[in-house]
Amino acid sequence: MSGDSPSSKTQVATEACRASVPDDPIVGIDLGTTNSLVAFADAAGPRILSLGSDLESVEDEASSQNGNGLVPSVVRYRGDVVEAVGREAAAGLEDHATRTVYSVKRYMGRRFDDRREDAAASPYRVVEGARGLSGIEIDGRMRSPEEISADLLAHLRDRASEALGVPVRRAVVTVPAYFDDAQRQATRDAGRIAGIDVVRILNEPTAAALAYGIGGRGDAETIVVYDLGGGTFDVTVLEVMPADPSSPDGEAIFRVLATAGDTRLGGDDFDRVLLEDLHDAAMAESDPERRARRLAVLRAVGGRAKIALSDAAATRIRLDGGGVVPDLDRTLDRADFEVAARPLVDRTLDACERALKDAGLERAAIDRVVLVGGSTRMPMIREAVETWFDRPAYVALDPDRVIALGAAVQGSILAGTRRDALLLDVIPLSLGLETAGGAVAKLVVRNTMVPTRSVEMFSTSVDGQLNVGLHVVQGEREMVADCRSLARFELRGLPPMPAGIPQIEVAFNVDANGVLGVDAVERRSGRRARVQVVPSNGLTRDEVDRIEADSVTHARDDMMVHRVVDLAVNAALDVKWITEALDRVRADVDTEVVASVEAGLVELQALITQAREDPRSVDPDAFHAAKDRLDRASMPVHEASIARSLRNEASSGD
Ligand code: AMP
Repeated sequence: MSGDSPSSKTQVATEACRASVPDDPIVGIDLGTTNSLVAFADAAGPRILSLGSDLESVEDEASSQNGNGLVPSVVRYRGDVVEAVGREAAAGLEDHATRTVYSVKRYMGRRFDDRREDAAASPYRVVEGARGLSGIEIDGRMRSPEEISADLLAHLRDRASEALGVPVRRAVVTVPAYFDDAQRQATRDAGRIAGIDVVRILNEPTAAALAYGIGGRGDAETIVVYDLGGGTFDVTVLEVMPADPSSPDGEAIFRVLATAGDTRLGGDDFDRVLLEDLHDAAMAESDPERRARRLAVLRAVGGRAKIALSDAAATRIRLDGGGVVPDLDRTLDRADFEVAARPLVDRTLDACERALKDAGLERAAIDRVVLVGGSTRMPMIREAVETWFDRPAYVALDPDRVIALGAAVQGSILAGTRRDALLLDVIPLSLGLETAGGAVAKLVVRNTMVPTRSVEMFSTSVDGQLNVGLHVVQGEREMVADCRSLARFELRGLPPMPAGIPQIEVAFNVDANGVLGVDAVERRSGRRARVQVVPSNGLTRDEVDRIEADSVTHARDDMMVHRVVDLAVNAALDVKWITEALDRVRADVDTEVVASVEAGLVELQALITQAREDPRSVDPDAFHAAKDRLDRASMPVHEASIARSLRNEASSGD
C-alpha cells in the first residue's frame, strides 16, 4: 500500500466553486487572537480563501506547516499610518516591538482595569483610554481596540474581495461564546468602522460545530467544543437541535449550556514553559525596550520549537543573539516538554469539569467533542482530551480553520445558498483504500446509509516493510489515479516481517454527520494509526453525478485493469516464493521440472513487467492462465521443499 498524488478531480471541484460566487457574497471571518481567516461557502461547501500577499511570503516553519489563508492578527503603525498588516507586520514584530499590535482581541470592549496584567507584559503601550476602556498608544497617537480590529478587518475584506473577484461587503464574524454584550458590540463596531455589514455575530464553538455539519440533520446532540488557541482557552457545552429539513431557513438551533475557560491560557504559555528560565531572565530585564525585544525573540523561538515538537520527539534551537539577546543552543525533548506542560493541560481539563458541572451533565452525556485552535495539534492535548472524555475527538478539519469554515457555512445559510443532497443520510461516493499497484479496495460503497462501519484486512507487498503508507480515496473508479484523494497517513514502526505476513486491520467508520474516521492496526505488533476526514467537503451534487456517470462509462475497462493489477501483485509474490523454493531444492527435482518452472517464471515475470508498465495492454485471462500454469508446474518444487524441511527437522531433532 503506497500512494499516488491527488487526482485532478479536486482541481475541477475548485474551478467549479470559483464559477459560483454571487454578486454580494457573505463571507465568514474568524477574527482570532493570534490569526484571522476568511472563508466562503457555496454548494460545494466551505473553503478558506487564500489571501494574496499574505500567501506569497510564507516562509517560516509555522506558516509553511499551517499553509495558506492564515493572516496573523497583527497591525503595525507609524504615527497616523497603518504600516503593515498580517504576515508582514508579524515578521517585523521583533524589530518594531513597540509599534506592532498583536492579540488586540484581549482588549476589545474591556476596561483597562481588567487588563492591567496583560498591559504590563505587553511590548506595545496599553493605557487607560476613553471611559476607562483600554487604549493603545503608539507614537503619541491613541487608538481603541475597535479601530485596530477595524484595520485588520479592512485588510481581510480587501484580500477576500481580490480572492473572490467581487467586492465583499457582508460578513459573519465570530466571537468567543463567553463574550459579553460590550465585547460583541465592540466587534460589531470594528466591522462598522471597516465598512463591513456584520450580518451576524456567531459564537466560535457554534461555528466549529457547523463546520462539521453538526445540526444538519439527525437527533438533538450535546457537544463539547475544546478550543485552545494562542492566548486563550475556552470550553463550551452546546446543545444542538438540528435543522428541520422542511423549513425554508434550514437553521439549526444552538444553545450554549455552559462555558468555562481561561483567558490567560493558550499556546503562548506552552512557549513560555518550554523556555521558562530564559523567559524569567527576560522579565527581570529593567530596560523596557530591551525587555520587550527579548520577550519578542523568545516568543518567536519558543513558538517555533513547540510546533516542531508536535511532529518530532526532539528539536534543537540555536540563536545568535547578536549581543542584544543571549545566544542560545539547546536541544528540547517532547517528553520533558510534556511533563513541564502537564499543569497547563490539567488546567484545561479542570475547566472542562467546571463547564460540565455548570451544564449539569456527566461526561457520558456528551455526544461529541470538537477540537479547535492551533494548540490542539499538540499530541499531548489530543491524548489528554480523548482520555478524559473517553471518546475520539473531531479533528478532521484543520483546527486553525474550523471556525472560519463554520462562519462561512452560517453565511451561506443566511444567503440562502443551501448545500444540496450531499448532506442527506447516505454516502454519496464510495470510500476506499489504495492497495498495491494503485488499485482501490472499496470499504464503503456509495449510497450506504450513515452511520456505518466496515473493516478489512490488508498486508504488505515488500519484505521487511517498517512503515506502511495508507491512502484514503473517494470515487467510483477502480484505480487511485481516477479517484479523489482524501487523506494519507502512515502506520509506523512495524517489526520487520516478510511480505504478506503483517495483518493490517483497517476500519472505516462514518458517523451520522458524514465524518470518516479511519483506524489501522497491525495485529501482531499492535501498532496503530488513524486519520479523520470530511469526505463531502468540496463536492457538489453535480460533481457527484459526473463522477458516477464517468464510472459507468469506464466500468468494464476499469474492472479489467483492476484485475490485472491485483494479478500482478499476487504473481510477483508467487515468483518470489517459487524462485526461493527452487533455489533450495534444485538438486532434489527432475531437470524437466526445473526447466518448465524456469520457463514459467520467465513468462510470468514478463507479464508482471508489462502489467506494471501498461495494465491495459495485458489480457487478464491470459495472465491468469500463465499464473495457473506456473502454480501447477511448481507443485513438485513445493513438495520437495516440504520434504526437505521435514528431513531438516528430523535431523535437528536427533
Ligand atoms: P490560534 O489562536 O487558534 O490560531 O492558535 C495559535 C496557537 O497554536 C499558537 O500558540 C501556535 O503556536 C499554536 N500552534 C500552531 N500549530 C501548532 C502545532 N503544530 N503544534 C503546537 N502548537 C501549534
